[in-house]
Amino acid sequence: MSRDDFPAYEQTLKQQAIAAIQAVDDYQGRQRQLAATREAELDAALEAQIAALRRTSAATPHVVNSNGHPTTTGSTVDAAAAPQGAPAPHFCPQCGHAAATDDRFCARCGTSLAPVMPAG
Ligand SMILES: [Zn+2]
Repeated sequence: MSRDDFPAYEQTLKQQAIAAIQAVDDYQGRQRQLAATREAELDAALEAQIAALRRTSAATPHVVNSNGHPTTTGSTVDAAAAPQGAPAPHFCPQCGHAAATDDRFCARCGTSLAPVMPAG
């Protein structure tokens, strides 16, 4: 590159710089447009959601679970102390195995099953 070429080169650089600035301006303008569009879209979406919420809360004033009785028991471990009234079968206190009413020992583990009445 000779000294004579420099002004032309400078001119080229300036044009490139201007083009770059214009590109940035263009880009920023598009971003602004996009942001405005998105804002409008978000506004619309928000309005729709609010409207839907209002409709829902108006339609269903109370959502109550009718099954309001929590079950805390139900494990087989407590079976020995359980059902009143029924001809309760015996349950081995050791392993929980069900035994016949007149069984004195657990058929599974051989634990002595406490008799309801003391055997003579
Ligand atoms: Zn047992």
